[in-house]
Amino acid sequence: MFHVSKFQESFKDNRVICRLCPHNCKISPDKSGICKVRINNKGELYSKIYGTISSAAVDPIEKKPLYHFFPGTSIYSIGNYGCNLKCVFCQNWEISQPFESIEPDPFDSIESFDPFGSIESIESDILNNETQTPKDIIKKAIESGSNSIAFTYNEPTVWYEFVYDTAVLSKKHGIKTVMVTNGYINEEPLEKLIEYIDAFALDIKGFTNEFYKKYTGGELSPVLKSAESIYKSGAHIEIIMLIIPGLNDDPATLNSFFKWISKNLSNETPIHLNAFHPDYKMQNITPTSYDSLKEIAKSAKKSGLKHVYIGNVRNVEPEFKNTYCPKCNNLLIKRNGYDININATKDFKDLKDFRDTKDLKDTKNESEENMICPSCGYKLKTIIF
Ligand code: SF4
Repeated sequence: MFHVSKFQESFKDNRVICRLCPHNCKISPDKSGICKVRINNKGELYSKIYGTISSAAVDPIEKKPLYHFFPGTSIYSIGNYGCNLKCVFCQNWEISQPFESIEPDPFDSIESFDPFGSIESIESDILNNETQTPKDIIKKAIESGSNSIAFTYNEPTVWYEFVYDTAVLSKKHGIKTVMVTNGYINEEPLEKLIEYIDAFALDIKGFTNEFYKKYTGGELSPVLKSAESIYKSGAHIEIIMLIIPGLNDDPATLNSFFKWISKNLSNETPIHLNAFHPDYKMQNITPTSYDSLKEIAKSAKKSGLKHVYIGNVRNVEPEFKNTYCPKCNNLLIKRNGYDININATKDFKDLKDFRDTKDLKDTKNESEENMICPSCGYKLKTIIF
């Protein structure tokens, strides 16, 4: 469904600038921006995909991945089409890059991108899909027994208007919202969205600008800025990095990345180090081995990060899949696949009894949503019931 785009500026000659993401595409009439899903129609920018659902599923929240946000619950997850990055290693390319057949080579796409409309406008069967409303999504989430909704599978930023409207309505119904995102979004749209999104699983794809430019068509600094803004806002954030052998796994660079997280977010911000599998346009790189992920995870912990997880591989050892108290190392959340066992104070009565027993009066006025270690009373910053 067509819907007027937010964050647009018009020129007298009917060209428009989209200010939604850092590409700031300048788009001629009847042309689309880099994401291909925003089109200039007679001098006004429209989203072509408002309410178009590519996939919907009830997933374990750990699959997003979010390990410290309502662990052990299910989340109603929806996706749309398109992306504002062009990652050659995309693992969801069927829906994030559905317009691939007319896409220039991603290695050239940004450098040769004509800001005044080099990309043809496209039509597709996708646009004829039946659309849904935010109200439909809330209803389906409630019927599925989920207390949260995830915007995932493709980049939520590119269908911003629908994500925003659904998130606003979710708040009114007491439903939590999650964005699984590449963080490639301008400051103003992000600020407006943060008011209604409770948690972000944010993908940082590499820790150099060269990597971003060459393999994603974007830049690193706006992503880091988004991560900082989300963290400062108080919304929950977990960081994901897909480790691609030989491309973004340089030990010194990763060490800088881990230090950056500690300094600019928190050393208790969870980080997920995921294995790469050959996909999309990157078929010539071998999958990431468990041993190399383990080495990287160890160095992340050595740098001071407290919650380091390995994903996308089987037989992960307990220390890289369970959650431990950062203070006393007590096991707090045991994960066996999507089977989750929580060993911590999880209801308010228990919490009150525990605090009274331990005389933790200083914590009584703090948020009752955070997890308390039953062994030492440490309050984890990022874990929420
Ligand atoms: S959201 Fe799409 S059209 Fe808008 S600036 Fe980003 S890539 Fe360009």
